[in-house]
Amino acid sequence: MTPEEFRAAGHVLVDWIADHRARVPDLPVAAQVRPGEVRDALPAHAPDQPESFADVLADLDRVVVPGVTQTQHPGFYGWFPSNASLASVLGDIASGGIGALGITWQSAPALTEVEQVVTDWLRDLCGLSPQWRGAIQDTASTACLVAMLAARERASDGSEHRGGLQALDAPLVAYTSPHAHSSVPKAVLLAGYGADNLRYVDVDPVTYAMDPEALRRAMAEDAAAGRVPAVVVAAVGTTGTTAMDPVRAIVDVAGEHGAWVHVDAAMAGSAMLLPEMRHLVDGVEGADSLAWNPHKWMGTILDTSLLYVRDVDHLVSVMSTTPSYLLASTDAEVVQYKDWGIPLGRRFRALKLWFHLRLDGVEAIRARLRRDLANARWFAEQVGAEPGWRVLAPVELQTVCVRHEPEGLDGDALDAHTLAWVEAVNATGRAFLGASRLDGRWMVRVSVGAEATEREDVEALWALLREVVAGPAA
Ligand SMILES: *Cc1c(COP(=O)(O)O)cnc(C)c1O
Repeated sequence: MTPEEFRAAGHVLVDWIADHRARVPDLPVAAQVRPGEVRDALPAHAPDQPESFADVLADLDRVVVPGVTQTQHPGFYGWFPSNASLASVLGDIASGGIGALGITWQSAPALTEVEQVVTDWLRDLCGLSPQWRGAIQDTASTACLVAMLAARERASDGSEHRGGLQALDAPLVAYTSPHAHSSVPKAVLLAGYGADNLRYVDVDPVTYAMDPEALRRAMAEDAAAGRVPAVVVAAVGTTGTTAMDPVRAIVDVAGEHGAWVHVDAAMAGSAMLLPEMRHLVDGVEGADSLAWNPHKWMGTILDTSLLYVRDVDHLVSVMSTTPSYLLASTDAEVVQYKDWGIPLGRRFRALKLWFHLRLDGVEAIRARLRRDLANARWFAEQVGAEPGWRVLAPVELQTVCVRHEPEGLDGDALDAHTLAWVEAVNATGRAFLGASRLDGRWMVRVSVGAEATEREDVEALWALLREVVAGPAA
């Protein structure tokens, strides 16, 4: 494809994207396909000869769009807000267009330095002190794995450079909440701690936040038995209910054992942009690493996750590799992001954040987050005031956990009712919600915060929910 051919097709594609976004509210929220349907709609072999751009575009409409759950839809309340602001889409296009290779500072100095600038901008916007230095990771899952590796190496005094974990006398132990995201135990296991050395610490029965006294007991017990308390992952915004583990108390307890504290604020981290919400991360300055996802609620398109650490030298000592072909005379003066994480090559992801912040502006982003907090509170108030309905957990941010509990229904029958009505809501195509288990029973999570969701949409959702539970479908 020549630049001139790209120009012609690119204009058409940008128009298509703008039209697509404009019609998203009219599409069903949930993907409309059965397993295998998308594959079956496409040829089994790649074309030998070039096809027309019009044919490719037509397949986007015919095959791809119906095969996507429309997370940009105003009726999307599933999992978590997965916003893809159009300003950041432009940054993504620019990143692809420049086609930079990010393997070292030398390979694209601007790629490194724009990333330094935007991670510093966001650190300051979140009220974090300059002791933190950040890098973009693809996802919070990767960020957590990197943190678990850094913690492992600190607790084992650089065991990777000797016999590794296999030569340690005492096992390293990791601690987290049973409500932590599944990526946390995954990272602990992948980093080699072993399932036997992963402790799920008790939580408060009402708030679902980690109980720091239970953490203290668990760490003391391990230490007394000759094991090494190595790392605690504090979930700031758990997956199920957005519970807030108390960071300050966790940092204090972990400090008694010199354990690393990683704060997983993947979803809730966007709230740090709001000064009035920063009490939720009180004590974070004492943690060792912090990850959050602008690609969720804040709305910089995937894959834009931030990992901040306090001790960059330690991280680099764990991650660095310096093959001769990557050495350069400027090495002492520059940041080499390849030494801050797992991949060598990186995309120019910083442009997504740079475009998003510059084109939308921080005040508009903050206003949208505040709108969503108010919408979630409004919704929780309606549910709480309606007989037969219950809000099941504190509404810390924009997630409201609800259940419709008709008189006489409990146990498995109540579970069946819950799953039936959430499925009925999703089948309308007007809204999309997720079910999840809490205290052994199904409940429904209403995660407010799609960029397009206004108060009237939340009002429509509440009307729809009441309509569905009253109707024959439930
Ligand atoms: C979404 C989420 C994750 C995982 O995020 P990815 O970027 O998809 O890996 C981890 N932890 C929490 C608390 C989350 O909300």
